[in-house]
This record gives sequence, C-alpha cells and structure tokens, in this order.
Amino acid sequence: MCLYALETMANEEQKQQFLPLAQSFRIITTYAQTELGHGTDLRRLETEAVFDRTSDSFVLNTPTLTSIKFWPGALGRTTNYVLLMAQLYTPNRDHPCGLQMFLVQIRDLNTHEPLSGVELGEISTRFAHAAGDNGYLRLSNLRITRTQMLMKLAQLHALSSGLKAYTSSVGERLAQVCRVACGGHGFLVASGIVGIKSYLDAVCSAEGDNVVLFLQTARYLLKVMQQVEEDSSEKIGSSTAYLYLPLWSSTTIINLDDYCRLFENRSQLQSQSESDAEAESEPEIGENSDSDAETVDESETSEYSDHNVESPTEVFDDEDVS
Ligand SMILES: Cc1cc2nc3c(=O)[nH]c(=O)nc-3n(C[C@H](O)[C@H](O)[C@H](O)COP(=O)(O)OP(=O)(O)OC[C@H]3O[C@@H](n4cnc5c(N)ncnc54)[C@H](O)[C@@H]3O)c2cc1C
Repeated sequence: MCLYALETMANEEQKQQFLPLAQSFRIITTYAQTELGHGTDLRRLETEAVFDRTSDSFVLNTPTLTSIKFWPGALGRTTNYVLLMAQLYTPNRDHPCGLQMFLVQIRDLNTHEPLSGVELGEISTRFAHAAGDNGYLRLSNLRITRTQMLMKLAQLHALSSGLKAYTSSVGERLAQVCRVACGGHGFLVASGIVGIKSYLDAVCSAEGDNVVLFLQTARYLLKVMQQVEEDSSEKIGSSTAYLYLPLWSSTTIINLDDYCRLFENRSQLQSQSESDAEAESEPEIGENSDSDAETVDESETSEYSDHNVESPTEVFDDEDVS
C-alpha cells in the first residue's frame, strides 16, 4: 500500500527519499483516515496539520476525542509510518485548505517505540479480521517536515469502488444464503460460514461504506449518461462504454408490463425445464414394483419416526396446548 501511494502520489524528491525504505520494508505503513467520530463524511475530519513557515514544517494534532484516528489496519502493533489524512491549515490557522495526505513516522525504526507526541494502541476485538491489528492513534504537536506532505492528489476510481461495493455486498448476502442452506450446521464454528460472513460483513464498511460507494457510483453513471446524451462523440471510459450501445427497445426499459412478462418468461422456462427433468428421471409404471404402492406408510418417512419425539401434529392435537 505504501509503495502504491508513494508511486502515485509522491513527487520525485519524495520518491527518492522514501521509496528505497518502503521497498526494503524498513517503512511499514497503514492508511489512517477514519476517526472515532468521523467515517464516511470526510469533510468533517478533525485531525489538523498546521503549516509553520519559520521551520518549514507541519504541526500535527488530533485535538479532540472524536478526532482520534480509529480503525487503521496493522496500526496497533505493526506499522511504523501512517498515511495520514488531515485538514491542512495555513499559519495562524486562519485559512483551512482542505484535506491533505501526509506520510508520518509514528514509531522509532530501531526500537519500534512510539515517537514523542504519538499515543497509539489496539482497538477492541472484532467479530472477524481478528488478525487485522486495527489500532487508534492520538497525535500531540507532532512535527513533520514539509516534504512529508504527499504532493499529488489521489484520484477516485469509480470502477474499483463500485466493484468493491458490489462484490462485498453480494458476497455477504450469499454467505448468509449458504448459512441458511446448511441449516443449524451452518451456524457451527466448524462450518466456517459465519466466519466468512462476518469477514465480508466488515468489508461492507471498510475502505468506504458500501451504501455510500453505491451512491457515488450511481452519481458517476448518471453524470456519464448525461455526457453521452449531450455529445455521443465524446470519449468516455471503457467501463461505461456500454452506455453508448443502442437499447434493444425503448419499451423494455420503461414499460413495467414488459419487465413482468420477462420475469414470467423466465419462470416459465425454469418451470418447464425442471418439469421435463423430473419426467425424464421418473421410472415407467411397472418398472419398479415399489412405486406401484398407492400410499406411503408415514411412519417410514416421518423425520420424527425414528425418535421418541412428538410430531408437530401430535403437539397441536394436545388439548393442553392452545
Ligand atoms: C475491518 C475494518 C477495517 C478498517 N480499516 C481501516 C483502515 O485501514 N484505515 C481507515 O482509515 N479506516 C479503516 N476502517 C474504517 C472504515 O473505513 C469505516 O468504517 C468506513 O469508512 C465507514 O465509516 P463509519 O464506520 O464511521 O460509518 P459511518 O460513515 O458513520 O456510516 C454509518 C452508516 O451511515 C450510512 N451513511 C453515511 N454517510 C452516508 C451518506 N452520505 N448517504 C447515505 N448513507 C450514509 C452508511 O451507509 C452506514 O450505514 C476499517 C473498518 C473496518 C470494519
């Protein structure tokens, strides 16, 4: 992650200074954006970086309880640097300049002890991601050089954030389907399914909440769609190029009856193929003498027959049970 951030967001001078350290794993970094009181709403992040012109440096602070960085993976015990998102201020704090990313050392590279002005530790146990070593970070007048501000702004990749939201949401839902399909066994730790579900559940929030990512993706698509409608010759990304394709028929998009008919068709085809498959697997009359029996002895088939358990019908037949 550190390598990617440096390669995409650092200038040449910063790359020369930090890349060799990151490539040799002397620098291990995590992304510190979320705060105890602020997640999705990035504009409200409170961590501040105030520029000090005299020393050509920034002074970093998490001035309130809600501004403490909370959640960064591997922060609790492992990392010695963070990619810190903070509100940038000019000297005298008179002019907020918006969010900016900084590469900040938090632990001594030799002793691994937190630096002066840094307080950190692990957050409490998670349902999943137990080995994630997620941590908290409090900064008090930590000074960093100006060159530690990453100079190039990150770009939001609509495709990757949309894909993350879609795959983790579908995965989480399907894990629940698998859990239920296995009945009670699916709820046993041994099945592993609840663990997978909890893991995917956390991914729905981590690295950008899915609801918000879906909204962003939808907004992006609407914007591209407008572009397409205004000027179909304009070049747009390959992931949205399908928006240029002619529609099959306008009625299939706007006519509810057509949608219903499509679902009916689908159901018809599925029922038909299931019914054909069943007919093919049924033995001919006389081929198997057991199948000639007109009635089936319930005591042989009931799931309660092998045990000393009352069947539900018996329970409800009992006068004492209303
Ligand atoms: C396992 C795990 C690992 C993580 N690792 C990191 C990490 O390495 N670094 C880091 O900085 N953070 C990390 N996080 C934090 C994660 O990025 C945040 O949890 C996430 O951004 C959501 O923020 P929040 O938890 O404050 O929820 P909130 O933003 O408060 O969201 C709460 C609810 O409100 C809804 N909501 C919020 N805003 C809107 C909106 N505008 N429109 C509609 N609905 C909205 C959301 O959909 C959600 O349902 C991690 C989280 C988890 C669970």
